[in-house]
Amino acid sequence: MMAKPLHICTPLLESVPMSKVVGCKVFIKCDNMQPSASFKIRGIGHRIQKAVQMGGKHIICSSGGNAGFAAAYAARQLGYPATIVIPESTPDFVAAGLRDEGAEVIVHGKVWDNANEYAMKLAEDIDGSIVIHPFDHPDLWEGHSTVISESANQMPVKPDAVVVCVGGGGLLCGVVQGMKKVGWSDVPIVAMETKGADSYNAAVLAGELVTLPDITSRAKCLGALTVCKRSLEYSKEHPIHSVVVDDRDAVNGCLRLLDDHRILVEVACGAALAGVYSNILKDLQKEGKLPPELKSVLVIVCGGSGITLQKLMEYKASVGL
Ligand SMILES: *Cc1c(COP(=O)(O)O)cnc(C)c1O
Repeated sequence: MMAKPLHICTPLLESVPMSKVVGCKVFIKCDNMQPSASFKIRGIGHRIQKAVQMGGKHIICSSGGNAGFAAAYAARQLGYPATIVIPESTPDFVAAGLRDEGAEVIVHGKVWDNANEYAMKLAEDIDGSIVIHPFDHPDLWEGHSTVISESANQMPVKPDAVVVCVGGGGLLCGVVQGMKKVGWSDVPIVAMETKGADSYNAAVLAGELVTLPDITSRAKCLGALTVCKRSLEYSKEHPIHSVVVDDRDAVNGCLRLLDDHRILVEVACGAALAGVYSNILKDLQKEGKLPPELKSVLVIVCGGSGITLQKLMEYKASVGL
């Protein structure tokens, strides 16, 4: 039997302000409320629980972002040590936050690739090490799929579209799998990215994995240079419409959510919100990619810990809003 999950069942709200914008009922799945501030604990919690059952004893992760926080939180909850390797570019408050979560934090190298290399080497020397990839692992996707199975229980109706953002594609894989489980395989997904972090869009257009030369978007959590292979495969098995917006739209999404629901999220999550607030759904309807009449839409509010009011105001100014 599987142990009790480490994520919580988050609220699903009917958003009256968003419903007004779209012209149908919009439901928001508030995964910003997860204990690690994002949906990541769903997949990473599940991945770690399974690995521990198989004899794993020491969690290793090379992310100073939400994956690192989820890994540190899961490790503390289960009573195992966590080592998080982060590059020198990681802000001090992130390292402090990870230490507060009980993790050993090692600062190594200039960029993420250096930190990741070091983490891999470290793992070789640690008995029972569990290396956590932020988006490319089947157990991770299985855990992420609960965001949909929960929503299906909470929604009064089957949605006509599901809106979600894409970084490395882990969440997208989980969403597709969850939708399969609850009988939503015919429901289109709107997969949102920002310009400069659009590795999924590039892959879908090319029909093969594409590695971006650099991440130039403010939505750092969407900044995977290459998406996971499974997410590209799913683009051929499930109706998924890939949409790229400007950082400005994503930041605007964050600001609107804050005013409409008093919820503060990362710019990465703002990309999904732009699906609603920047009229993306209406455009897709005009293109015949969504039904001409929408009755209800589900938006995954993925959350994120890398945001403060101060930072959001800086982003706001930098995009000219
Ligand atoms: C990880 C993360 C994403 C991207 O998820 P992927 O599984 O990499 O596609 C988006 N938003 C937030 C807040 C995240 O933590």
